[in-house]
Amino acid sequence: MCGIFGYVGKTTNVSLMVLTGLKTLEYRGYDSFGIAIGQDESFLVEKHPGKIKKINLKFKDSQIGIGHTRWATHGGVTKENAHPHLDCSGKIAAVHNGIIENFEELKKELIAKGHKFKSETDTEVVGHLIEEYLKKENFEQSVKNAFNKLQGLNAIVVVYAKSLEIVAAKTGSPLIAGLNKDGMFISSDASGIVKHTKKVVFLEDNQMVVLGKKFKMINLITNKEIKPKFTNLDWKFEDSDKGKYKHFLLKEIYDQPKVIRNIALNFDEQVTKFSKLIDSAYGTFMLGCGSASYAALSGVYLFSKIAKKHVNFSIGSEFDYIEDYLTSKSLVIPISQSGETMDIVGPIEKAKKRNAKIAALVNVLGSTLYRQSDEKVLLMAGQEKAVVGTKTFIAMFSVLFLTAYTLAKKKALGKKLLLAAQISTEKILEQKSIFKIKALAKKLKNKEHIYILGRGISYAAALEASLKLKEASYIHAEGFAAGELKHGVIALIEKQTPCFVLCPSDETFDEIISNAWEVKARGGYIIGVGPINNKVFDVFLETDDLKEATFIPQIVTFQLLAYYLALSRGLKDPDRPRNLAKSVTVK
Ligand code: GLU
Repeated sequence: MCGIFGYVGKTTNVSLMVLTGLKTLEYRGYDSFGIAIGQDESFLVEKHPGKIKKINLKFKDSQIGIGHTRWATHGGVTKENAHPHLDCSGKIAAVHNGIIENFEELKKELIAKGHKFKSETDTEVVGHLIEEYLKKENFEQSVKNAFNKLQGLNAIVVVYAKSLEIVAAKTGSPLIAGLNKDGMFISSDASGIVKHTKKVVFLEDNQMVVLGKKFKMINLITNKEIKPKFTNLDWKFEDSDKGKYKHFLLKEIYDQPKVIRNIALNFDEQVTKFSKLIDSAYGTFMLGCGSASYAALSGVYLFSKIAKKHVNFSIGSEFDYIEDYLTSKSLVIPISQSGETMDIVGPIEKAKKRNAKIAALVNVLGSTLYRQSDEKVLLMAGQEKAVVGTKTFIAMFSVLFLTAYTLAKKKALGKKLLLAAQISTEKILEQKSIFKIKALAKKLKNKEHIYILGRGISYAAALEASLKLKEASYIHAEGFAAGELKHGVIALIEKQTPCFVLCPSDETFDEIISNAWEVKARGGYIIGVGPINNKVFDVFLETDDLKEATFIPQIVTFQLLAYYLALSRGLKDPDRPRNLAKSVTVK
């Protein structure tokens, strides 16, 4: 979740370099940030709650420094809890991603030995533990001993001003180390490092890297030095800007026609390979978290209906509990924007141990999932910076859609429908429809609850639509399978409760219109989303009729509604909703 950037080398304006590096990574986690810059033999630290802003860099020239953007797990969002955390001597600075499960026990022991703690975080034990070991060992060995004491899935980066060394180790979240002729880098994300060097190593779990005088790697299990396996980051990492848009969220919504078109026209090879894998597997499981889980759920309907193929679906964090039957003939399809989601990466590691084949759908090149999977389809949606996922979700759906049509030997029809969905999306992005969505946002802005009903594939759309509203506007929104209404949900309907009804012209139409009448009879305010208007609707948001691809304009409508609801409710930064992070690397 957090962003980490560290440097040691000849360049002397380290504070600016660290801060600029952090800014690139800020989308990962952003409740507070901090940097520690070596000054003589100790560190000067600057920390702030909130997002990265210009700070008065009052540091002297230095050759070593580290920075962190935090997504709090232990301890509130305060200046004191922001990383880096120092030891008592002020000579060791540590940043961390993950959760140290045994931190309370370690903290107690360290306090008993006289260490003074300044924060409520689990992270702060790291520096103090190393300080203890340093009494007898060198820095490298001390970090190794300390790291081996930590329980849980963690990545730590520790800098020592005295020896001008950075030591990093991980069992969980990603870390990438790199070097150029002037110095060495460590970052939580390849995009943080790529403008300095292309020569990098992706750390594996249980590896440690020592940066400073030389670039040294150690396997923490065998305790042996290993030869670094350098990768040439020969990739284009675009760092997108907002262009003419006020927020990334809006810009990324407007990127979608391009994304859909690219998949319709340029994904032949990928979807053919992907469809063959699904065809030959004995048991296919699609996994995702958040929006990606709804893309996976939509896949269940797409493959059943279009390709007459059964695929399973599971939320990433639940997969551990139902994966016992996986065999070498199973196919697991992790779906992820970042490729770092711990709730996906963890289960995939287990599935690999059972020799299941892994074929990922992922947007970030070089991410952990990208590297771990046997096969991969890159979504090519371009960098997504707003925390509320939009274009990557549509890309996931579009790839699954085209794969299902390819499997059914109707690829040409699939492409045609996707191209029609591109045009349909463009229409929704035009002023006329935006005007209607904005007016609806104004009407709904003070509501406490919003319900969204769907059947069949529109059930997956209803779940995604409600997630967009929740994340962006903080209004409680729930998606339901419309058939479930009478089994309990209908008790929630009061006079004027807004209830969206997703009604593509498919086999669900008549039944969902009946459900809409049931809600209306209890006073509900009905908003229809689909190609055909009906008397039951109080408001009608029209989409084109594109068979299963009607899903796309339906979702785009809700993305816009979520954005304009956020604005109507006075939320300042729709790109960064409270409490969330773009890349969720803790369990
Ligand atoms: N558990 C640590 C904390 O709460 C790490 C947070 C992070 O990964 O950003 O400070």
